[in-house]
Amino acid sequence: MVPAWGVACTDVWWNRELANCRPRLGASLAIAVAALSGCGGNDATAPAPPASLPTAQRSGYSGCTPPGAFLRHGSRREQKVALTFDDTPSATTLALAKVLSDHDAKATFFVFANQIGDQAGSLRRLIVDGSELGSHSYSHLNMTEPGVDVGQEVRKANSAIEAATGFTPCLFRAPYGKLDPVLVRQLVRLDMTMIGWDVDPADWEHPGAEVIASRVLKDVRPGSIVVLHDSPETQGQTIRALPAILDGLATKRLETVTVTELLGGRMLRQG
Ligand SMILES: [Zn+2]
Repeated sequence: MVPAWGVACTDVWWNRELANCRPRLGASLAIAVAALSGCGGNDATAPAPPASLPTAQRSGYSGCTPPGAFLRHGSRREQKVALTFDDTPSATTLALAKVLSDHDAKATFFVFANQIGDQAGSLRRLIVDGSELGSHSYSHLNMTEPGVDVGQEVRKANSAIEAATGFTPCLFRAPYGKLDPVLVRQLVRLDMTMIGWDVDPADWEHPGAEVIASRVLKDVRPGSIVVLHDSPETQGQTIRALPAILDGLATKRLETVTVTELLGGRMLRQG
């Protein structure tokens, strides 16, 4: 039986930055039952993957516990950090995956879904390596602008990611980091958990690989979420900075985990 991938966000640690952010024990229990029963859903919509990769299939589960949280970091009491990459997939995705794999590390990639095109295999590579996918919207619009159909942006992105990989994202990173109360309320209704960051080396300004690495290692601390970019706009500097970042984190005895794992959840492999 081919493996199926999904994500569960049980026992999530979160910032109570929104008034309506409350734990949903019922949802947690439902997720646990689904995992134990091997709930895998239907893989008929998943395209055929490259021969070297196992087929992913729908998890039959979407949404985090608690949906609607807006998180900039995880618990400061555990020696874990999450590296995140925006704008995946791109020409640099597989190179990033290789560096992560060489360091036995994983990360969370926020997918610009309209860019998936023929790069679904790159996304599946990330999942197989233990990394996580989140949504970075379908069209990468400033979603706080009037007239943007937030629901359509989120649903289209999730559908495209599921169709390409079988992975159901429950995390959302707003394009340009633009969030306002209206957008937050809409995302809450869509069961998406919003992920910010507390470490930003501004790699998109391509300040140099050494500067990117030193900024990350200076600011990072237990529980940190680091924002980086999977984009040619970084001029390859993020890829060149990544080995030093990973070595530095190891020296600090900080384990790199997915955002879901940082928040106390588990990545599920079913089937
Ligand atoms: Zn972006």
